[in-house]
Amino acid sequence: MTTCFDVIVVGAGPCALATLSALPANLSVAIITGSEPALPSPSDVHPKIRVVSLESGQHPGVADRIEPTEGKHRTLYATAITGGLANYWGQQFVRYGRGDPYGADLFTNYQAYIDECSTMEALFCLTDGTPFPGPTHLPEGFILHEPRLLNGTADNAAAGLDAMRFAIDQAMKNYTCVACRATRLSRTETGEWSVHLSDGSRVTGRKIWLAAGVIGTAQLVLNSIDTLRGASFRDHAPYMAYASGLRHLLRARPGRHFNAYTLERIESSHCDVFASIYDMGSTELNLVLGSAINLVSPFLRGVRSPSLASRLQPVQIWTMRSFSRIVLDATGTRYSSHLDDASTDDGLCQTIAAVSSLGGKVWRHNRTPGGLGFHYHNLRMTLDDGRDIPVNTLLRRWSDGHVLCSDASILPTIGLRPHTLTAMATARYLVKKQSEQ
Ligand SMILES: Cc1cc2nc3c(=O)[nH]c(=O)nc-3n(C[C@H](O)[C@H](O)[C@H](O)COP(=O)(O)OP(=O)(O)OC[C@H]3O[C@@H](n4cnc5c(N)ncnc54)[C@H](O)[C@@H]3O)c2cc1C
Repeated sequence: MTTCFDVIVVGAGPCALATLSALPANLSVAIITGSEPALPSPSDVHPKIRVVSLESGQHPGVADRIEPTEGKHRTLYATAITGGLANYWGQQFVRYGRGDPYGADLFTNYQAYIDECSTMEALFCLTDGTPFPGPTHLPEGFILHEPRLLNGTADNAAAGLDAMRFAIDQAMKNYTCVACRATRLSRTETGEWSVHLSDGSRVTGRKIWLAAGVIGTAQLVLNSIDTLRGASFRDHAPYMAYASGLRHLLRARPGRHFNAYTLERIESSHCDVFASIYDMGSTELNLVLGSAINLVSPFLRGVRSPSLASRLQPVQIWTMRSFSRIVLDATGTRYSSHLDDASTDDGLCQTIAAVSSLGGKVWRHNRTPGGLGFHYHNLRMTLDDGRDIPVNTLLRRWSDGHVLCSDASILPTIGLRPHTLTAMATARYLVKKQSEQ
């Protein structure tokens, strides 16, 4: 007799971890991890992913290519690794303020959001984001502090970039784990739900949570519902600025993390500019070369960059205008990207002024192409009549609420601070609420 699980979770990234953490005890649960990476040609993949893979000796955890309709853009990928994109991320694990879009429509109140954040944070080891101790002469509203970083798990404080993977591996120990990719979903004749897998087999369950990341979820839904015309989602791709003159700040900090400082402007608990200042002298030489000239070499594996590299300080700047929209075709294999209009961006000008007040000079800046910001959210599916509807509105109708999404796709909008903690808190809250019904 085939097993029918109470719940199937598709995906094994941060939001899958949050989903698992919110499921009632004593359910039978299967997790489809999707950790079946393709082997793309190395130059295709984002330098951070290439460098982390090379340095750790693992395949880049990506699969399912999405080609740009315009040649100048880069290929995008669905994630294919336990821990998801958090294997390659900037490790910033940040709560939204009361004035940020934390999900006021969903959570009963701000405290309910903070409670879910705290539950997720308790699994990990975090730095506290100490404010810069000296005088800074920053313009009003700006603050400078060390980033709040997720450096390890509660059991392994030194896990570093492996922390999310370790945490979900730990959580999955109690459940049935399938290391295949889900290819589509369908309803069985007896009214349960099947997840079709890349090896040709199926897993059946009564309820499915899709936590395959925005691209993974979009592709699965497109493969499962014939009548869809496509999908779209939002990205928050920052400006990349290059500054000099901030070396005294890099020297003044006690730590040596590559992500050296956070510069934010806060007004009424709302962050309306968020910037990260990086120290290229505190990372691998491969990351410096990969970011600068797209060259990553196995011969340089393990080689740290020279302190000279600290002379130029990259600053990533997220503003209210630096969002973009990615549109997928019906096959989920081609995309076009559209940057929001930022012809006048006050947030950018103010941040450049703030960097100057710290003694720095910004030499140049450019916008990251849409899709390469990796702050994906707001997945909407395009119906055959051309209307766009949120992914969970569609899934509720299609499956009578038995198939739902719990990854960052369901955030209709995000704030300027990195959003993964908020996505996880939202997933937990949604799964808990649904499980009570
Ligand atoms: C370079 C970089 C820097 C970043 N920095 C930060 C930061 O500092 N702070 C922050 O908050 N966020 C950051 N992010 C974003 C963060 O990593 C994502 O927001 C987060 O990982 C999204 O979590 P998720 O669970 O929604 O999806 P993902 O992390 O994409 O995980 C998706 C999971 O689903 C699985 N999957 C995919 N397709 C399938 C399928 N067909 N079948 C089965 N399983 C499937 C994958 O194997 C993976 O386990 C960064 C990302 C990158 C790449």
